[in-house]
Amino acid sequence: MNALAPYRSLTIKIGSALLVDKAGKLRSAWLAGLAEDVAALKANGCDVVVVSSGAIALGRGLLGLDAISLTLEQSQAAASAGQIALSQAWAEALGRHGIVTGQILITPNITEERRYYLNARTTIATLLSLGAVPIINENDSVATAEIRYGDNDRLSARVATMVESDCLVLLSDIDGLYTAPPAKDPGAEHIPMVKAITPAIEAMAGGAASHLSRGGMTTKMEAGKIATLAGTAMIIAKGTEPHPLRALTEGGRHTLFQPSQSRAQARKRWIMGSLAVAGTLQVDAGAARALLTGKSLLPIGVTKVSGEFERGDAIAVLNPDGAEIARGLAGLDSDEARLVMGKRSDAVLELLGAGNRSAMVHRDNLVLVGAQEEVDHELG
Ligand code: GLU
Repeated sequence: MNALAPYRSLTIKIGSALLVDKAGKLRSAWLAGLAEDVAALKANGCDVVVVSSGAIALGRGLLGLDAISLTLEQSQAAASAGQIALSQAWAEALGRHGIVTGQILITPNITEERRYYLNARTTIATLLSLGAVPIINENDSVATAEIRYGDNDRLSARVATMVESDCLVLLSDIDGLYTAPPAKDPGAEHIPMVKAITPAIEAMAGGAASHLSRGGMTTKMEAGKIATLAGTAMIIAKGTEPHPLRALTEGGRHTLFQPSQSRAQARKRWIMGSLAVAGTLQVDAGAARALLTGKSLLPIGVTKVSGEFERGDAIAVLNPDGAEIARGLAGLDSDEARLVMGKRSDAVLELLGAGNRSAMVHRDNLVLVGAQEEVDHELG
């Protein structure tokens, strides 16, 4: 069975031990095989985002740092030197298939601060729409000990949910989750599918990690919780052999973690659950009617903007009588909204410049008040 068939967009996380050998050298034949797999997925119409580790492992070789454990300063220097080699390796490997790569280095504040988050998401979406493969890593050279993720398992889950991938694939040195860590318990049994990450499942994960990567099964379970709660499936598969993604399309062994709700449901719940709205948009009767038929809220229908908000903040939509009729995520910040309210789309385009930021609230980010039950029914 083709485990990747259901998905149109994938985030693939590659661990350091797959890309870099124990001597600190790039495993270029393996990377060439993986690039071929990625090219085949893209040729089938699947969007691919790669979260690649390996900067520190490559950099320590380049800088001749042979201590078993590096100081934080040494790791940061190694990441800095290694990231150049890592990007170059990806650009060359995918370039052979005519695929352009873009590099994005992420710090946790990018995924936690709404404005950075939206910008990173837009950049990645734009790269994908241009046919490129975004290559993402943590910005280890500047992230301090307290604020860094430290492992790319959780980072990749944040990325997968940020770009709304259908599935996150963690390529690792093990072909999935077992009832106990198999290195310690030879009787451990492989689990093909996990419906929900319960405490019992977490207990099976144990805590082991290899000397190159920081993650073990524990950070993979953390990643799984982030992904599945936001509506993204997760697969853990063995990446050590050549062509690990092709293997997944040909029935290779893995563990699938099912999403606990759909992505639209997750987003709409989040919108309905955000009690504090940062501002309100009052609309005219025509716009109020259009919203009820499932349309986006355009600037021309807005008569008043109240409060200060950023793009992506939760806002309430009020009808001409001042009653709340919908809740949504702002497509424009409050200054932009004040600038373009009441204006026709061509004037809005002129004021804000070209791009897709013309809706005050896009219909995908809008929930009508009283529609929560419908949302549950429609998506449940
Ligand atoms: N970001 C680190 C690197 O590129 C790897 C972290 C991890 O192994 O999960 O070297």
